[in-house]
Amino acid sequence: MTDVLAPGSVIGIIGGGQLGRMTALAAARLGYRCHIYTPEENSPASQVSEKTTVASYEDENALAEFAAAVDVITYEFENIPVDTVQRLSKLAPVRPRPSVLAVSQHRVAEKDFARDSGAGTALYQGVTDLDQLRNAVSEIGRPAVLKTCRFGYDGKGQVKITAETDLAAAWASLKTDDAVLEGFVSFEKEVSVIVARGVDGTALAFPVAENHHVDHILSTSTVPANIPEATEKAARATAVALAERLELVGLLAVEMFVTDEGEVLVNEVAPRPHNSGHWTQDGCATCQFEQLVRAVTGLPLGPVDVLFPTVMQNLIGDEAGQWLDIAAEPHAKLHLYGKTEARPGRKMGHVNRIKVS
Ligand code: AMP
Repeated sequence: MTDVLAPGSVIGIIGGGQLGRMTALAAARLGYRCHIYTPEENSPASQVSEKTTVASYEDENALAEFAAAVDVITYEFENIPVDTVQRLSKLAPVRPRPSVLAVSQHRVAEKDFARDSGAGTALYQGVTDLDQLRNAVSEIGRPAVLKTCRFGYDGKGQVKITAETDLAAAWASLKTDDAVLEGFVSFEKEVSVIVARGVDGTALAFPVAENHHVDHILSTSTVPANIPEATEKAARATAVALAERLELVGLLAVEMFVTDEGEVLVNEVAPRPHNSGHWTQDGCATCQFEQLVRAVTGLPLGPVDVLFPTVMQNLIGDEAGQWLDIAAEPHAKLHLYGKTEARPGRKMGHVNRIKVS
């Protein structure tokens, strides 16, 4: 029991976005208090948390004060400098530990790691200049996808290499010297699995979500996924294997492709709650945010049975303006993030439509 943080303890969350907000709400329900660390004023997470430090990720004094004020630290997005998290880990337990963050921040490290864990990936090769790109294209073939290794999201920082693509122009467009070329996967479905692993080493994968993107941004996640049972099992087992190899404490979201042959290939991992796991708030016996709180505080993990088949739909930009209609829909559970400005492409909220039989 020594590793268990009692209710009343303070969870420090780095990052102030909606994932932090929903983690803080789940923490509050279990009697924990949250302290957010973010460079942003009036962040979605700070609106629902007891305390916020507004400071940069390089502010050593603010980081030290934050670490002294909390009992455990977690993070809600992965583009935090690893140095920051390493510094914090000398002052307070950081879960997941900094090396997990480092793997998730670099696409080649991520794929090497997935391969080393026995998981399948697309063909890939690290590329640092135009000559290497030419070599990689001749080995992997076309079509392929060239991606920056760091800071890419929602399809940003990547370019498709087709038969017609001029490689010099493609390389110049990426504006980086650290990239990866991936073979193009003609996938049948995109799915994801969120796995939790506790302080005691117990790992538990949520059911597979089937994801549909529009303009490279997640639009819907559907559970149960329309895949054979063997594929569901393989995807969850892959996620558990990754979590175990990382000695994760917390959550790991694993995005995967299911190929036409039913093979599961790992595309990306993120050591935090994930948009494709929002369905768990209303459709699952334990939601991903509560599971994160349970994992980092040393509580036993909660069960992950599907209670209701659920379709999660993101509300992006102006779509959040439909809140009144959604509120009137039976079995539609509305979640809004408290963001005032509805910019195009900005995630403003989501709705979980549950199927009650
Ligand atoms: P990512 O930033 O890696 O998540 O990629 C964004 C989206 O681009 C994915 O959700 C896929 O739809 C597509 N994509 C990425 N990598 C590949 C690949 N190697 N083959 C085919 N499609 C891909």
